[in-house]
Parts: sequence; C-alpha cells; structure tokens
Amino acid sequence: MKKLLYPAARPQVTKEDRKRVDKVLRSGVLSIGPEVVAFEKQFARYVGTKYACAVSNGTTGLHLSLIAAGIGEGDEVITSPFSFIASSNSILYVGAKPIFVDIDPVSYNMDPREVEKKITKKTKALLVVHIFGQTSNMTELIKIAKKYKLRVIEDACESLGATHRGKKAGTFGESSVFSFYPNKQMTTGEGGMIVTNERKIATTCMELRNQGRALNSAWLEHKVLGYNYRLDEMSAALGVSQLSRIEKSIARNRRIAGWYDKHLAPYSHLVKTPEAAANNSHSYFVYVVQILGTRQRDRVIEELKKRGIGSRPYLPSIHLFEFYRKRFGYKKGNFPISESVSERSMALPLYNGLTKKDVKRIVQALVSIL
Ligand SMILES: *Cc1c(COP(=O)(O)O)cnc(C)c1O
Repeated sequence: MKKLLYPAARPQVTKEDRKRVDKVLRSGVLSIGPEVVAFEKQFARYVGTKYACAVSNGTTGLHLSLIAAGIGEGDEVITSPFSFIASSNSILYVGAKPIFVDIDPVSYNMDPREVEKKITKKTKALLVVHIFGQTSNMTELIKIAKKYKLRVIEDACESLGATHRGKKAGTFGESSVFSFYPNKQMTTGEGGMIVTNERKIATTCMELRNQGRALNSAWLEHKVLGYNYRLDEMSAALGVSQLSRIEKSIARNRRIAGWYDKHLAPYSHLVKTPEAAANNSHSYFVYVVQILGTRQRDRVIEELKKRGIGSRPYLPSIHLFEFYRKRFGYKKGNFPISESVSERSMALPLYNGLTKKDVKRIVQALVSIL
C-alpha cells in the first residue's frame, strides 16, 4: 500500500521514550517490576484517583471492572450503541446483557433522557462511554444511577484528559478504564489502565489480572479464577514517559482541532464540525466531522485517500453488527441518531505532528471533493 502523506493517526514516540524502554530491556526485568508500579502511581495522580491498576489493554480493563462490580449472568447493563465494540463486548464476557440507549446529537454520548426508560429490575449498572474525547453528561447520569442504585463504570478509553464541569473523565464512576492503543491520546503499544477510589475494587482487579493470586501471597497460590491481563515492563516504561508530556500533547491536538474548526467554518452547510457539549472540555482522541447533504461518506474517504489523506468511518453502531442483530434482534431504526451519525461521520487526520499548513491542505482537499 502506498504510504499516505497524512495518515489518520500517527503515534508520537520520542528519544526519551526509547531511552526509558531501552533501560528496561537492559535491566532484565521485563514483567512484574518497578515500571508498572511507577506508571500506576503517576497515572492515578494525573487522573486524580486513589488507585490505578495497569492491564494488557482497554478491553481486558473493562472485563475486570465489570467482574469487580459483581456484574454477571442475568444482569442488564445500560450502555451506548455508538462506541467501539469492546465496550459492549465486555458486558457479554461476564454473561450480562447490553441494553443500548440512543445518543445525544451534540456529544454523541448516551442521552440521559433515554436511560430511565430502559431501567428494569435486572438493571445493575451503567457502562458510560465517553466517545471521541468528551465525557457523557455525568451530572445527569450520576443522578439517575443514585436514584436507582446502579453502579457506574466509565469507558474512558477515548477521553484521557477530558473534563466535565472541570472534573476529569475517570473520576465519576466506581471504576474507569483507559486504553493506550497506538491511536489514543498516549500509547504503550497495547495497554490499559483501571482507576478507582475504592481499595477493594483496586485489590480485586490486581488479583484478577495476575492469575487470581492474592496480593502478597505465594507465587503459585490462586485464590480465584484469574486471568493473565498484566502489562509488561517495556509498555509501562513507555507509558511513564508518554504520560510525562500528556498535557502538552493534548494541548497540541486542541490547537490542531481549532485550525480545522476555523478552516471548515465557511462550509458548515457541507461539513458538521465536532462540538463540545455544555460543561465539557474536549480532549480530541479524533477529529470527527459529519458529511452533510447527499454526498456519500465512503466515497469521500476514497477520494481523500487518492490525495494521500487518511480518514476513517467513525463509528459503526454496535447494535447493527451481525452477531448483535442475531443474538438480540436489533435492526435498523432502533437507534436513529446513532445510526445517522454512523452513516455520515468520519475522522480526519489528527496527531501532534500536523502543522497549520497541513490542516489547511487537508481542508482544501476535503472541500474540493465536496
Ligand atoms: C480503544 C477503545 C477500547 C478498547 O481498548 P483496547 O486497548 O484497544 O482494548 C474500548 N472502548 C473504547 C471506546 C475504545 O475507543
């Protein structure tokens, strides 16, 4: 495949990053060592929670969070259909049923007004997804959760550094999960983190990720059915290094998003630019626009590719995947806002290395196609 002039995403790896990883490789301690401990401590401090538990990726983090919340067979968990599939799949892993509610057309997150209608005796939790770099309406969702005594888990995999009423994503739920896949705000290759203020949840997650070994127990003592969901030392070292400049990196993406906003503003009849909902600050995991009018989004993506510009359809609605339709009988029309956004939305290139000129060229190419 021809290399794109502007890929959709490009992880930023610096000399300092490489140095820190190289030090681990030379140390001989490649797993269960000081880098994971340091990464957890610094990550918890950044987000503002008491505890953090590093895991092998965001998906395994969600799995453990649901187990730790006691969600299982027969339970219902309310969540968003407009998400990366892992959020909903993790509910299936524990034998529970994902119950979707349609999204808000501004934030693209679960609409709180739809949530109450879906609560039944079986509802145990809200798995709240913060999509694209902005949080859900946590003010309203927490109110509902309190009223019905539901547990709240945040899928903050796309929203590191985002805030709602000045409070960071990851500090609202009993536990919250982040991902460090290469296209996220920071990366460890594969990697994830669970954060919580509850000691018991942190302990449970740490035991479960490590084959069910109790903390401080002998190596081959297994208390419960566990998993190997550990993060290795090289990844953790990269995490420590990447985290040290996360504020700068997010600030840069915000500037780039601002340039996109400015250059796209005269074309608001053709392209809908992303919007932060009231009380939210956006941390731009991706810069997602909607193609308005009759232009086919997928054709636009193809045309951009011919011009060396990478873009992606973001995101398909989960309820319309074949195995969800088959298993739960979902069909087109069930969640019209989610579906309409799914059909029109696409992510334009966004990564720290983009300049003002680059953004201008990308916008010019997009507008000429439209
Ligand atoms: C990336 C992502 C995940 C999963 O993270 P991985 O590290 O890829 O397993 C889960 N939910 C959302 C919303 C994501 O964007």
